[in-house]
Amino acid sequence: MDGLGFRHEQERFIAQQVRTDRLQQLFRQSVTAVFGSFLALVMLCWLCWERFDHTVVAWWVALLTASTLVRITMFLVYFHSPEAARTPQRWERIYLVTLVLSAGIWGGGALAVMPANDLLAQALVMLFTVGMSVSAVSCYSAYRYMTVVSIALVLLPCTLWLLFQSSTLQLGMGLAVLVFASFVCSATRKLSDALETAFRLTREMELAHSISTRAAQTDELTGLKNRRAFFEHAQRLYNHCQNYQLPLCAVMLDMDHFKHINDTYGHQVGDQVLRQMGVVICRSFRETDVYGRLGGEEFAVLLPETSLETAQNIAEELVHSIAGLMTGPVHCITASVGVAAMDSSDKDLHGLMSNADRALYRAKARGRNQVVVSE
Ligand code: GH3
Ligand code: MG
Ligand code: MG
Repeated sequence: MDGLGFRHEQERFIAQQVRTDRLQQLFRQSVTAVFGSFLALVMLCWLCWERFDHTVVAWWVALLTASTLVRITMFLVYFHSPEAARTPQRWERIYLVTLVLSAGIWGGGALAVMPANDLLAQALVMLFTVGMSVSAVSCYSAYRYMTVVSIALVLLPCTLWLLFQSSTLQLGMGLAVLVFASFVCSATRKLSDALETAFRLTREMELAHSISTRAAQTDELTGLKNRRAFFEHAQRLYNHCQNYQLPLCAVMLDMDHFKHINDTYGHQVGDQVLRQMGVVICRSFRETDVYGRLGGEEFAVLLPETSLETAQNIAEELVHSIAGLMTGPVHCITASVGVAAMDSSDKDLHGLMSNADRALYRAKARGRNQVVVSE
């Protein structure tokens, strides 16, 4: 992938993460809204019990109870589903549908109970609808359109009704509500933009951190762990195997006559051989093994839960695969390998690695292109 394509891919990845963060924020922020909207309805009906039509109130409460139960179920399913299943693609639409349902019931019900000749009751209904829309900002601000949809559905039916009434008081009340609503919508925009920026910056920082950590641990030429990362992981594995009394073997590998390859074919061809070594080593070991390039043309591997005999066989196979490599004009690529197993006499990781190193030098002394096991 070229630089531009990689950057594009990163941006797409971050955009998806930000969308998931916003969804999580929406769900966490709005749990209380489900109960809040129901409580607001109960309180309003209690305050205006004598002023509202009881049949309409009963319908309103029944419908809102049903939509509240639907929303509670949605929250339970969301919070109990695995992280990977909480995708914006799946949940945004479900959330919006339930929000439209409950806000629509609230706004429609408020209009249905609005007594035509009772200004005090009208003012109380408007007080509650405005209160509901202000709390919508605190609950749905992760998604601007959710906030706007909720405010519009709760506020607009009663406000439009007021605007078409004959009294100037009602007209004034309707206009005031519209002015409040426009302030609330503008605040929502700023809040949701700020939230999105915060999520984006956090994700960009995390990505930059993981890229730089990986770069600091990876050998650029072979793609294997570099010396520092190898010893870091190796030490952890060594401690684990010692604590749990598990067998552990070390393999040290050094390319034969590598200077000759460089001198004969050039440094670039030498680099190509090392790259190929990276591929061969990567293919030859398990996920649980720790392997890396210690420097120059030297590589090391730690094999957990592996007997000395198995480690020797794996090393023999590796030497065999290397001897079959061909890189451009280089036909004779070989390596020598030393193998050692952890035992009670080892004081630390370096003791084990030194045993494997000594075996490696015996392999060199015996004529190279072979495996020697530490005694
Ligand atoms: P021996 O069989 O005894 O190990 O012989 P050798 O020539 O491999 O031994 P030595 O360790 O003396 O030489 C290693 C050479 O590897 C020396 C150095 O030029 C070369 N080398 C080290 N790092 C790199 C690298 O990143 N790229 C290339 N092309 N060569 C490297
Ligand atoms: Mg060497
Ligand atoms: Mg060498």
